[in-house]
Order: sequence, then structure tokens, then C-alpha cells
Amino acid sequence: MMDAPSERTRVKRLNKRAKYDAETVHGILDAMPICHVGYMFNGAPYVTPTLQWREGSRVYWHGSSASRMLEACEDAQVCLTVTILDGFVMARAAFNHSCNYRSVMAFGTARKLTDPAQKEQSLKAFTEGLWPGRWDMLRKMTAQELKATTVLSMELDEASAKIRSGPPGDDEADYGLPIWAGVIPVRQELLAPADDPRLLAGLAPPRHVTDFRIG
Ligand SMILES: Cc1cc2nc3c(=O)[nH]c(=O)nc-3n(C[C@H](O)[C@H](O)[C@H](O)COP(=O)(O)OP(=O)(O)OC[C@H]3O[C@@H](n4cnc5c(N)ncnc54)[C@H](O)[C@@H]3O)c2cc1C
Repeated sequence: MMDAPSERTRVKRLNKRAKYDAETVHGILDAMPICHVGYMFNGAPYVTPTLQWREGSRVYWHGSSASRMLEACEDAQVCLTVTILDGFVMARAAFNHSCNYRSVMAFGTARKLTDPAQKEQSLKAFTEGLWPGRWDMLRKMTAQELKATTVLSMELDEASAKIRSGPPGDDEADYGLPIWAGVIPVRQELLAPADDPRLLAGLAPPRHVTDFRIG
């Protein structure tokens, strides 16, 4: 197995669940656009949920240029996590209950994209990554909208993944107990797209909406 890229990314608790290869880390990021970004602001820790996307070996997130989170993260050390809950694992003893999950923790220094063209390109990659073909359908971004948007990115060279799957692990003696044990699988369900009440008549959702998948 590939070794941890740094001491602080080395999974110590249940390290058999650890993976450090780019394919695994990228796969989890690509499967779940929600991340949590942890950073320090005025001497206190904050963890902000937001959306992320990946381009090559970098992870990106964005927001209002007035956002405290983005201002505090710029050129600062951050920790970004992504979590996918795959199941509730129910054992014969409370102690052995667990979750099935895929998660990533990535550490690094967040950098702001300063070149407007690069910033727009990245926002396009974000949109296209979720809904291929959407960017070119949209009203073009104005210079003011671009200015009002900050994009941060971070190299994914210090990241760990942790994955749990499968049934509960009970103490050997407990397998004979008449207690239900197993897994309640979890997945995010997409419902039918809901038209905007102000949608022009006769517009059907495009393929990138009807074919959208997550997880
Ligand atoms: C959905 C979900 C539910 C969980 N429920 C619990 C719970 O109830 N109680 C509990 O104690 N733990 C739970 N965990 C596991 C938890 O995320 C930590 O792995 C665990 O608490 C050990 O933390 P630690 O700081 O001691 O890890 P350490 O092993 O000391 O962490 C060292 C390094 O390992 C890596 N690492 C640690 N955890 C993760 C992770 N989850 N994903 C990616 N890299 C990681 C990081 O790089 C970290 O810096 C859950 C995880 C998920 C995703």
C-alpha cells in the first residue's frame, strides 16, 4: 500500500481503512461536491461547509469576494474534508456500531486565483464537471460577477482517504446473541427536477439535468 504523504496525514486510528493514492482520493472528491473547509480566523477555528471541485491534482472552492471564509483561507493553512456516508453499521454491542463511509482529509495552503481568465476557466470547469454542456447554454458571466467571485485552490499532495465498508465487526462471543445486526445502506437520492415557476413555457430539462447523478 502507498505510504502516507506526510506524518500528519498518516491514519493512526484503524489504519487498515487508510488509502493515500491519488485515484482513491480523487474518486471520493469527484463523487461528492460538498466539502468542509477548516481554517483559523481571529485565533479561533472555523469549519465551513461549501462546494468543491477538482481539476487535475488541485481542489478548488469559491464564493463571494466578501466571504470571511475565503479571505481567512487565502495564503493560509487549511484542512479540507469530504465525506460520503454509505451506511449505518449495526452490531450486537453498542461499542461495535459504526458507519460505512468514504472520506478524505487534505491539508495545504490555499491560493487565490488572481488572473480573471483563469478564474473564469475554473468556474466553467466547476459547472461543466457537474452538468456537462451547461456553461455554453448560460448567459455569459459579467466582469462584475467575476470580480465578485473569489476562487481558491489547493494542491492535493497531502491527503488521506479513509474507507469503511462491509458488515459489522462484533466480538466473537457476541455472534451467538439473538440481536439483529447488519447494515442500513445510505445513498443520496435525486428526485425529479422541479421547474422554476417563472420558466418560459415549453422548456424541458436538458440531458445534464435528467442524467445528473451523485455519489
Ligand atoms: C461518516 C463518519 C462517521 C464517523 N464516526 C466516528 C465516530 O462516531 N467516532 C469516531 O471516533 N470516529 C468516527 N469517524 C472516524 C473519524 O473521521 C476519525 O477517523 C477518527 O475519529 C480518528 O480520529 P483521529 O484524529 O484520532 O485520527 P488519526 O488517525 O490520529 O488521524 C491522523 C490522520 O489520519 C487522517 N484521517 C483521520 N481520519 C480520517 C478520515 N475520516 N478520513 C480521511 N483521513 C482521515 C488525517 O490525515 C489525519 O490527520 C467517522 C468517520 C466518518 C467519515
